[in-house]
Amino acid sequence: MKKIAIIGAGISGLFFANLLEKDKSFAYKIFEKKNSLDLNNGYGIQLSVNSINFLNKVGFHKINSSDVYFPKKVNFFDAKKSKKICDVDLSQFNNQSNRYTTLKRSKLIKFLLENIPKEKLIFNSDLIDIKDQDKLSLLFRDKENEEFDYLVAADGVYSRTKQILFKKEGLPKYFNSIAIRGNIHNFENLDISIYLGENFHFVIYPINQNKEFNFISIVRKELIENEISSKNLFNDNTFINNLLNQISNKSNINLTERVKEIKCFPIFVSKKIQIPNSKNIFLTGDAFYSFSPSFAQGASQSIEAANELFNDLKNNSSKYNEARIFKTKQINNRSLINHFAFHLSSPLNIFFRNILLKYLTKNKSFLEKYLGKIYNS
Ligand SMILES: Cc1cc2nc3c(=O)[nH]c(=O)nc-3n(C[C@H](O)[C@H](O)[C@H](O)COP(=O)(O)OP(=O)(O)OC[C@H]3O[C@@H](n4cnc5c(N)ncnc54)[C@H](O)[C@@H]3O)c2cc1C
Repeated sequence: MKKIAIIGAGISGLFFANLLEKDKSFAYKIFEKKNSLDLNNGYGIQLSVNSINFLNKVGFHKINSSDVYFPKKVNFFDAKKSKKICDVDLSQFNNQSNRYTTLKRSKLIKFLLENIPKEKLIFNSDLIDIKDQDKLSLLFRDKENEEFDYLVAADGVYSRTKQILFKKEGLPKYFNSIAIRGNIHNFENLDISIYLGENFHFVIYPINQNKEFNFISIVRKELIENEISSKNLFNDNTFINNLLNQISNKSNINLTERVKEIKCFPIFVSKKIQIPNSKNIFLTGDAFYSFSPSFAQGASQSIEAANELFNDLKNNSSKYNEARIFKTKQINNRSLINHFAFHLSSPLNIFFRNILLKYLTKNKSFLEKYLGKIYNS
């Protein structure tokens, strides 16, 4: 039986392992750098129907119904006045068994872990080197070499595998933006609310049936090299509070009072799509390509990619990379368009953007091309 090494126990690696566990055609091990996975954090994740479809095949529909939420609409607001601009009906992309879903990221990880035998997940595994001989020989820090037939790199945006394969070119780049994450209790709107401001936007959505909401804001911010690499800056309460104050003052919601458990981090994205030379090494999820987060497709694409890769290995075909490149370009274009349109600052541009948004969000043919193509592929 062929042996697969999965690097990284994030959404992509764990979902890929679920597919292997169900099928039993391959032996596998997951190597995770951390010493445990956080199964308690309250931050949210949005999953569109394209990924729910695949998750349901490994039993996601059985997840406790109070732990998930099914938003029906995305409402767009002007952040300054909290005035509604328009909305998109998300339910038009749902079908009977697959619905747009929001939940805590930790609940998704917990679900994905349930079907994986403990001995197949090896913590404290930091990949240092790969030797591509007859088989792939993997070297982990403080561990013995181990040989595998395939390597699936699911080690996220800062992928060590990519750095080993592509050196400096494998590193992601700073996207001139910072993310602020937090939780809100009892928000008034039960769907997804996107507030558009000058050089920032924030999104609030329910993550379960218990009136818990996720808050995520993307704020444009140029930083110098030292600031980007300084972990202290993003843990510094004064820096975080100033940033939240800045957007709170430009919006009609008192964010400084309402957002709790705030975390802040710089956003990194991939420089370009890179395909390993070895035909037995594959990149998936954020390691394949990290998008800017304004299209909320990172996790869904991680799941979709893992599914495509599994089919490719099982059927011994080689369509994975080509299909991924095509899809990645589609998502990346949409993410960049959203990021640009959400953050306009000149009043005239905002005026015309809002007119266009009102028109496009009701235009069936546009919605089918922009969202349907991605959600129902
Ligand atoms: C602010 C923000 C908001 C987002 N919101 C959404 C959203 O609403 N919807 C959505 O679909 N997506 C969203 N995303 C994107 C989404 O979170 C990611 O695309 C997704 O988590 C990627 O999954 P992954 O499995 O590829 O990587 P990850 O989930 O990052 O997992 C990678 C794993 O690999 C491990 N690892 C790292 N290095 C090594 C190593 N050397 N050896 C072993 N293990 C290693 C890590 O510890 C981690 O466990 C958001 C992203 C950001 C930044």
